[in-house]
Amino acid sequence: MSFHLNKGEVIGIVGESGSGKSVTAASILKLIPSPPGEIMGEILYKGHDLVKYKEKDMRKIRGNEISMIFQDPMTSLNPAYTVGNQLVEAIRLHKKISKKDAIRQAVELLQVVGIHEAEKRLNMYPHQFSGGMRQRVMIAIALAGNPSLLIADEPTTALDVTVQSQIMKLMKQLQLKFNASIILITHDLGVVWEMCDKVIVMYAGQALEEASVKELYDHPYHPYTWGLFDSQIIRKTNTKKPLHVIPGNPPDLSQPIKGCPFAERCPYAQDICFTEKPELVEKVDGHKVACHFQTKSESLSRKEG
Ligand code: SF4
Ligand code: MG
Repeated sequence: MSFHLNKGEVIGIVGESGSGKSVTAASILKLIPSPPGEIMGEILYKGHDLVKYKEKDMRKIRGNEISMIFQDPMTSLNPAYTVGNQLVEAIRLHKKISKKDAIRQAVELLQVVGIHEAEKRLNMYPHQFSGGMRQRVMIAIALAGNPSLLIADEPTTALDVTVQSQIMKLMKQLQLKFNASIILITHDLGVVWEMCDKVIVMYAGQALEEASVKELYDHPYHPYTWGLFDSQIIRKTNTKKPLHVIPGNPPDLSQPIKGCPFAERCPYAQDICFTEKPELVEKVDGHKVACHFQTKSESLSRKEG
């Protein structure tokens, strides 16, 4: 995986479960248990290579510089402590301030994430909050250290649809307010359309396509991306179209993959696809795709899904 994110930019990493999205996110914060995990290459953050950082230095990065918002707020919040307790603790982990000041900031943070009667809520326990409110608390905790980069791993998957869109709206507002960068991990192309500036389509641990969101939605090139679009209802596109599931399963990543990782499931696959791996190359300005038949000089014609 290789990608670049500018300040204030939102990038979406999209793919099915098991495509390596979460592992990519966790790698950036070096939250990969090692062994067996090993991070190779570079993770450049504000010019510093995090791969070379010791655990002690990574602890200063996590929360202060880069924060993570996880999928399920119930497992990330401690049920035995009040919400206020956990928020105050998060604030004091990053800033050397008195408890009184931390409580004041906790109230402010809850207000920032749209929780009313914040003072009263501080004394409540996670189970007294709805799923959406818990996710707002998790976002408040992630913001406690004033990070420049937020990594959100399927932040709304556990929530129902109306709450999902409220949380996404909140994240967008906060991103604009704080000019933070966001890496948003999702399987939902609709969420990417609403939230992101650019997008990477990931499959079997690799990037198969990368472009600005507008460009990808107007001109998707990779057969896997076509499959994703055909299998999801996206507000921007015709919702009356019948949905098609991509047949088959992603490859077993414990075995080395020869050729194109999508070959087993690709309706366009030829012999070369099973023996040679296509590189991610630029097809048009800033739009990259990894397919033997989608290059600068060649184009596949898309069969109607
Ligand atoms: Fe399909 Fe071959 Fe392109 Fe892979 S390289 S997406 S198998 S046509
Ligand atoms: Mg995941």
